[in-house]
Amino acid sequence: MSINTHRSKIYLDNAASTPIADEVVQEIIPYLTTHYGNPSSLHSFGYDCRKAINLARKQVASLVGAKPSDIIFTGSGTEADNIAIKGAAYYARKKDPRKSHIITSAIEHDAVMESCLDLERNGFEVSYLPVDHDGLVDAGKLEESISKEKTAVVSIMLANNEIGTIQPIQRFVRIVRRRSDDILFHTDAVQALGKIGINCSELGVDLMTLSSHKINGPKGAGGLYLREGSKVYTIISGGGQEKSLRSGTENVHGIVGFGKACELILQRSDKIKRDISQLSDQLVKQIITEIPMARYNGPSDSNLRVPNIVHFTFFGVNGEDLLMKLDEHGVAASTGSACSVIRQKESHVLRAMGFSLPEISGSLRLSLGPQNTKEEIGHAVTILRGVVEELREFSPLKYTLDRNRYNPNIHGG
Ligand code: PLP
Repeated sequence: MSINTHRSKIYLDNAASTPIADEVVQEIIPYLTTHYGNPSSLHSFGYDCRKAINLARKQVASLVGAKPSDIIFTGSGTEADNIAIKGAAYYARKKDPRKSHIITSAIEHDAVMESCLDLERNGFEVSYLPVDHDGLVDAGKLEESISKEKTAVVSIMLANNEIGTIQPIQRFVRIVRRRSDDILFHTDAVQALGKIGINCSELGVDLMTLSSHKINGPKGAGGLYLREGSKVYTIISGGGQEKSLRSGTENVHGIVGFGKACELILQRSDKIKRDISQLSDQLVKQIITEIPMARYNGPSDSNLRVPNIVHFTFFGVNGEDLLMKLDEHGVAASTGSACSVIRQKESHVLRAMGFSLPEISGSLRLSLGPQNTKEEIGHAVTILRGVVEELREFSPLKYTLDRNRYNPNIHGG
């Protein structure tokens, strides 16, 4: 995979979005220039675009072990989450009015959270499952929450976007199936795609959300895996594209790029994962050894988190100030979800994990991509150390910070 980056800056916000791979750009260009037909048109211009969408469907399906016919293209991961959760909930309730209960976790992305809130406003009851200090969903609570008669949908993400924790979805699906065959299981796999192996048949899910721009594909393209036979109500009405689940003329160039990005990942996934794991190990090690009062957050077992996301608390520092200072020095990072930063709200994910306000406010997410290098990581840590020191000098907590209390090697302390 070849990626052109801004070499004068260090981009460590790949969980928010990624640079488009050169091979993807090349694949997209004809669909922005000469191949401008409408894929539904009955002439060669339309046919060329239809063919390209079909190829992309195969490429996306291959990456997640699905049948191409089970992939629906959407305008984003957010749209796929909405179609899956609301569509499944409304279909179930229409068939059986008792089916008015949804189960999700307390650490979902806003696309899932807001869909659930919307369903609550429309008469559904939603159970938000708690998580432990590493962000792992409580399986016992899932079991307790299921109502054979009332539960319509369970939606639990595969990997979290702030902390990187991977949920044991296969186990959760088994728990749900033991109670009922009638409950649809949805997982938001946006942050897991390309970072861990995904096989939707093995996971056993009915619905799964994907997004292109997190895997070096273009923005504005997403996907929904919909296992054959899963029934979902149409929430976007129109010309009937994408099995009538996402009407609207297809974003052909976006879909073509998404397909190509999936193909590239599939060809190089082992190398990408190995390289990124090495970089994130280096990043964690350097930060906790070189920066005082820095705590690594999330599971210490690398099998329980995606390799590209690392999360820290720098005590006595405000995360937003940290981001701005880092940006001044050419390092792009995040405090968590890009969507929540716009609204500057406190992270519901870290709250659910039991973090106190100082732990939340001093938090920083660094997320890596295949284009990052060892040199960049070393340079970013040097900048980070300087910026943290500078901000602590001006911190109102300067004289009250107890260095001995924050042992960097003990997470959760
Ligand atoms: N779900 C998760 C876990 C995400 O991290 C994101 C994006 O940050 C989304 C959904 C939304 O995807 P999109 O940006 O394609 O709407």
